[in-house]
Amino acid sequence: MKRALEIARACSCGCVEAHVIARRLTADGAHVEVWSDGTITRRGFFLRGLGEPRSAYAISARARGARLVLDDLSLYDLAEIPTLIKIAASTYAHTYSSDDTRRGHVRALFQKKAARP
Ligand SMILES: [Zn+2]
Repeated sequence: MKRALEIARACSCGCVEAHVIARRLTADGAHVEVWSDGTITRRGFFLRGLGEPRSAYAISARARGARLVLDDLSLYDLAEIPTLIKIAASTYAHTYSSDDTRRGHVRALFQKKAARP
């Protein structure tokens, strides 16, 4: 199990330890850090509502989900980021032909969820 978690947390740079891979500015002006394991922090604190994945699969899915929407973070408010990441991570449970298809699916799901009262 430990080995599976290490593989799930491994970044493309080869580092197993979680580290900041990007910094983004949200639509409402919040600076956030994106970590290699998919964690999102603001000023060093975890964002509320993102949860903590425990299985190797969940960790890997969230890391890939966070990378998937990395370029879109500036289009959303800080409060919307956890939902965006969760939806992106959940799309990895399905098989899609391309990242473009996956991105389109994430956007459609997010807009559908955001439209709820
Ligand atoms: Zn890295």
